[in-house]
Amino acid sequence: MKTKAQNNNNSGRKLVILGGGESGAGAAILGLKEGFEVFVSDKGKIKDKYKSVFQQLQIDWEEETHTQAKILEADVVMKSPGIPESVAIVKQLQEKGIPVISEIEFAWGFTSAKIIGITGSNGKTTTTKFVYHILKNAGIKVGMAGNVGDSFAKQVAQTKPDWFVLELSSFQLDGIKDFRPDISVLTNITPDHLDRYEHKLENYVFSKFRIAENQTEEDFFIYDLDDEIITKWIEKNPVKAQRLPFSLAQKVENGAYIENENIIVNIKNNRFKMPTTKLGLQGKHNTKNAMAAATVSQLLRIRKETIRESMESFQGVEHRLEKVLKINNVQYINDSKATNVNATFYALESMKSETVWIVGGVDKGNVYDDLLPLVNEKVKVIICLGIDNQKLIQNFGNCVDTIVETQSMKEAVRMAYSLAEKGDSVLLSPACASFDLFENYEDRGRQFKDAIRNL
Ligand code: ADP
Repeated sequence: MKTKAQNNNNSGRKLVILGGGESGAGAAILGLKEGFEVFVSDKGKIKDKYKSVFQQLQIDWEEETHTQAKILEADVVMKSPGIPESVAIVKQLQEKGIPVISEIEFAWGFTSAKIIGITGSNGKTTTTKFVYHILKNAGIKVGMAGNVGDSFAKQVAQTKPDWFVLELSSFQLDGIKDFRPDISVLTNITPDHLDRYEHKLENYVFSKFRIAENQTEEDFFIYDLDDEIITKWIEKNPVKAQRLPFSLAQKVENGAYIENENIIVNIKNNRFKMPTTKLGLQGKHNTKNAMAAATVSQLLRIRKETIRESMESFQGVEHRLEKVLKINNVQYINDSKATNVNATFYALESMKSETVWIVGGVDKGNVYDDLLPLVNEKVKVIICLGIDNQKLIQNFGNCVDTIVETQSMKEAVRMAYSLAEKGDSVLLSPACASFDLFENYEDRGRQFKDAIRNL
């Protein structure tokens, strides 16, 4: 059973919310509904749309400062995932023994819906939307939250689904205490965000595995068996939940695998089968995401025909290997969300034709070795798009005949247009963060699509 510690009478208890963004506003709405006295404090500026929520609900708030005395009076503190644990105010709260939790932990205490939690370094959004798509098609009352759409807390306050599908970043998981998903999915682990984890991979892995920390034998843990970081960790730190691995490389007894180009999901002799060629999304990574989503669906005993149809119709998510347009028989593909090497690896791997590859941005300590064989095999032209392209030129200069530097999306797309030949693909898969030239990855992806449409 869930321990719903917060679900008592909260009348008059003080909830302080650090960070007035999407999760902060959601927690404020839920906190108010549950009887808390709510105070929102943000060291930066709060967006107008959230300010008006606070004003409308007469919630006390401040911006560009943290009033210590008020914050340290809290009974419980909800910290937005964007605020690191290391900031002074969080340290002070911890010293005083005041619980500091994430929005996920907070909201979970007030819902009786069952939970599917999805985490991993790559594939969280895609898998979350995939699962949601299938559950919706099956007629299940389901909500989707986490990093996608309205915050979990707001939805808990305003809706009553039977299931929630939650996309969970490691930062969300860092702030849990009792949170326990009925089904958890760990898509993969590759080094990312290590700056928030003292540059130690084990801290990051530990954080991801917190998704299963409170699970019991009644729950399920779905994970990538081909991922060595995951399998090595489980050997030393077994999870209590029933394990359902998925693998492209080997047959598993309970879980998902590939046999003669079919996805097989087998759970206690209940077998689901579907040809990989029928999947709406391409690429091995998407086959893995599909296997994870199908395993969840099997656990929920959704009709196999519905799962099959939903897997065929799922079209993926914007900025993730998104097909944009075909011009002069050249396919343009937007994978702007590929902000690390692993995501780009799978993008290149999925390319079926010769590729003009647009890459670059802010390098987060990338090691490009894994990409070299794929670049040698598939890429004919590299277009660097970033303020500093030296590392790309050093790594890939010898792999291709043509490598050019550009510093705007328009220029990059025009260059790609002039260098691509019939039958080629133009792939934007940057392997880097975007903030040297763009606001964020969405802005980068949109500029890419606009530039293509204006060719
Ligand atoms: P996240 O929410 O974890 O960042 P997304 O679904 O937004 O994941 O995808 C991010 C990037 O990773 C995209 O470039 C996408 O094509 C790629 N990707 C998606 N699923 C996987 C996977 N299972 N393994 C590796 N890369 C993936």
